[in-house]
Amino acid sequence: MAELSVITPIEYLKGVGPQKADVLKKELQLFTIGDLLQYYPFRYIDRTQFHKIRQLHPEMMGAQVLGRLISLQEVGEKRSRRLVGQFRDDTGSIELVWFQSITWLKKSLNVGAAYIIYGKPTEFNGQISLTHPEMELYNTQEKKIGNMTMQPVYSSTEKLKKFNLDTKGIQRLQQTALETVYRSLHESLPDYIIHEHQLMPYAQAMLAIHFPQNTQDLNAAIRRLKFEELFFIQLRLLRNKQLNIQKYRGHRFDKVGDKFNTFFNERLPFPLTNAQKRVVKEIRIDTNTGAQMNRLVQGDVGSGKTVVALMSMLLAIDNGYQACMMAPTEILAQQHYAGITALLGEEICTVKLLTGSTPAKERRIIHQQLEEGTLDILIGTHALIEDKVKFKNIGFVVIDEQHRFGVEQRAKLWRKNIIPPHMLVMTATPIPRTLAMTMYGDLDISVIDELPAGRKPIKTVHFFENQRLRVFGFMREEISKGRQIYVVYPLIKESEKMDLLYLEAGLENLQREFPLPHYKISIVHGKMPVKDKDFEMQRFVKGETQIMVATTVIEVGVNVPNASVMIIENSERFGLSQLHQLRGRVGRGAEQSFCILMSGNKLSKEGKTRLETMVRTSDGFEIAEVDLQLRGPGDISGTQQSGVLEMKIANLAADQAILTEARNRVIDIFKTDPQLLLEKNKMLGQYLSQRSPGISWDKIS
Ligand code: ADP
Ligand code: MG
Repeated sequence: MAELSVITPIEYLKGVGPQKADVLKKELQLFTIGDLLQYYPFRYIDRTQFHKIRQLHPEMMGAQVLGRLISLQEVGEKRSRRLVGQFRDDTGSIELVWFQSITWLKKSLNVGAAYIIYGKPTEFNGQISLTHPEMELYNTQEKKIGNMTMQPVYSSTEKLKKFNLDTKGIQRLQQTALETVYRSLHESLPDYIIHEHQLMPYAQAMLAIHFPQNTQDLNAAIRRLKFEELFFIQLRLLRNKQLNIQKYRGHRFDKVGDKFNTFFNERLPFPLTNAQKRVVKEIRIDTNTGAQMNRLVQGDVGSGKTVVALMSMLLAIDNGYQACMMAPTEILAQQHYAGITALLGEEICTVKLLTGSTPAKERRIIHQQLEEGTLDILIGTHALIEDKVKFKNIGFVVIDEQHRFGVEQRAKLWRKNIIPPHMLVMTATPIPRTLAMTMYGDLDISVIDELPAGRKPIKTVHFFENQRLRVFGFMREEISKGRQIYVVYPLIKESEKMDLLYLEAGLENLQREFPLPHYKISIVHGKMPVKDKDFEMQRFVKGETQIMVATTVIEVGVNVPNASVMIIENSERFGLSQLHQLRGRVGRGAEQSFCILMSGNKLSKEGKTRLETMVRTSDGFEIAEVDLQLRGPGDISGTQQSGVLEMKIANLAADQAILTEARNRVIDIFKTDPQLLLEKNKMLGQYLSQRSPGISWDKIS
C-alpha cells in the first residue's frame, strides 16, 4: 500500500471507511487526513482539577465535577421541552439541563452511574445548574495517551456521535492519523523564521496540539500554529497587494486644478480638520502614482467623510475624469446629493442623482450625459452599477458604507472603465486594527480620527424602566425647545412577533403621553411598505413630527440635524456597533444632544459591559475594540461575507500580538526579497504559487 500522507483522502485512514468518511465530510468538511489533523480541539480539560458541587458558582468559566446521575426527566412541552437530570456528589446536588438531542441523551445516559461532567455553572433562582454539560462515564474512562493531563475536547455533532465520533472518537482518529503520517509532516516555515520567532517545529506542534504532555507544551504548540496561520494569511494578502500594484495601471491625477482650488478657496464653509487634510493628501499622493488606488477610509459618524470624498472627486474631474458615489439606500443617496450640491453650488461642476425611483425620462438624460461626458459627478444607489450606466471616462469611485455592498457589486464598478477607476471605500463602522489588517490587508487604510471642532459630545445615560417618567418629562422639555426625538426598538428576526408587540405597546404608551394634536409621532419599521416608510421618514425629516418611533432601519446615514435625543429601548439587546451607529444619528446639529439607553433590570454581564462602554466613551475605535473582545471577529459587522476570517486556530480578538508579529515579518520579507528569490524564502514562493490564483483575496475591494 502506498504511503499515506496529509493529502490522502480521509477514507483511507484506518478506522474511518466510506461511511464515517462521508459523515466527516458532510459535517466537518474534513476531506483528507491533513484536514483531520487541522481539526483542532476547541478546549482542553485539565484532568487534574476537580471541583466539588458546593464550590460551583456562576462566575466560573467551566468546572469538572465527579458525581452520580440520580435521575433524568423530560419536562416542558414544545419550545420549552427539556431534559433535566439531578447530579450529586458528597457536597450537594445540581441540575443538568439539555434542550437539544433529548431523545439521544435519554437513550445513552445511565441513571445511577458515576460521571465526570464538565460545563459552565449558571445560576437561576439561587440554584446552580449546568446546561449541556459534557458527560463521561467515570468507570469506562479510557487509558490515557502518555501521561496526559490536558485532555482535548473536539466539537462534535449528533450525526457524528451516531457514528461513534464524539470527542473521544475523534481523539482516537487523531491518534491513528498522527501515527500514520507523523513522519511525513513537513516543516512549513523557513528555518530562520522558526529560529528567530522561537517557534515549535511543525510536526511537534501537531502532536502537542492533539496530545499535550503539559500546559507549557500545549501553549508552545498553539503559538506556533497560530503564528503559522496568520503568517500565511498575511503572506497571501501582501503578495496580492503587491500584484495589484503591478497589474492594475491606474489613472494618473497629476494636477490639482481649478475645480478643486475654487471649491477649497471659495466654497468650503469650514476649515478642514487635520485628519481630513491628511486623508485628502494621502489620496492625492495615491492617485498620482500610476497605479490604481484601493483605499479604505474609516471615520466615525460625523467625522466629515463626505467632504473628503467630494474633494477627491473634484481632483478626478480636474484631471479630465468623471466620478461617482454609491450609497446603500435611497435616503442616503438623496442626502449625499443634497449635501454635495449645497457644498458645491452651481458653478463648479455638474452633479446628478440616480436611484431606483429616478423617472425614466430623467434616467435617459443621465445616461446620455454620462456617455457624452457632460456629467461630472453621479451620485446614487445600486442603480449606478447597472450595465446600462456607461461613463465616458470614469476615474474615481466612492463607495459609502461599504459593508452594505457585496463584493460582486463593487467588482462591477471596477469594470466601468478599461483602466479601473480609483476606489475609495468609506465606512463609519470602525474596524479594530487587527481586523482591518486581515479583512482589508491588501487595501490601504486611512483613518479620520478627529471630529470637527466645536462638536458637543453627546451625553449618554443609562436608565432603567422605573425611571421612565423622568424620561417622558425630559422628552417634553426637549420638544418644547423645538427639538426632535428618536425612539428606537429592537426588531430581531427570531423574536419578530414579540418585538413588534413591544413596539406597538411602546407606541401606544407614547401616544398617550404625547397626544395629538399638540404632538405628532412618526413610525417606521422594516415590515412597512417602502412607500409608507419613506413618507413617514420624510415627515420627520421635514420637522412635521416631533417623535420618530422606529426599528433599526434608521441605523445608517440618515441626517436630521434638529433631532437631538436618541432613546434606545431594550438597549441591552443591541450590539455595541449598532448602539454606536444609532447614537450617531443625533449630535449632528449645534444643540447639545442626548442618548438615553433604556434597559430592563436584569442585565447579563456582557449586556452590562456594552451599556457601560457606551456611557463611558464615544470613540468608535474604542467601542469597536470592546466589541471585538466581547463577540469575537466573526460577528463584527461586515466580516461575515469575508472568507478571510475563517481561521482554524487563530482568533483576531485574542491574538493581536501574534498577528502583528507575523505581519511585520511578512512586510520585512517583501521589503528585502520582493520576488521571494532568496534561497531561504524559496519555500514561501512555492507555497504562493501552489495556491490557485484568484480565490477571494484579490476581490476584497
Ligand atoms: P460622516 O463622516 O458621518 O459621513 P459627514 O460628512 O456627513 O460625516 O459630515 C457631518 C457634518 O459635519 C456635515 O454637516 C458636514 O458638513 C460637517 N463637517 C464636515 N467637515 C467639517 C469640518 N472640518 N468642520 C466643520 N464641519 C464639518
Ligand atoms: Mg456619511
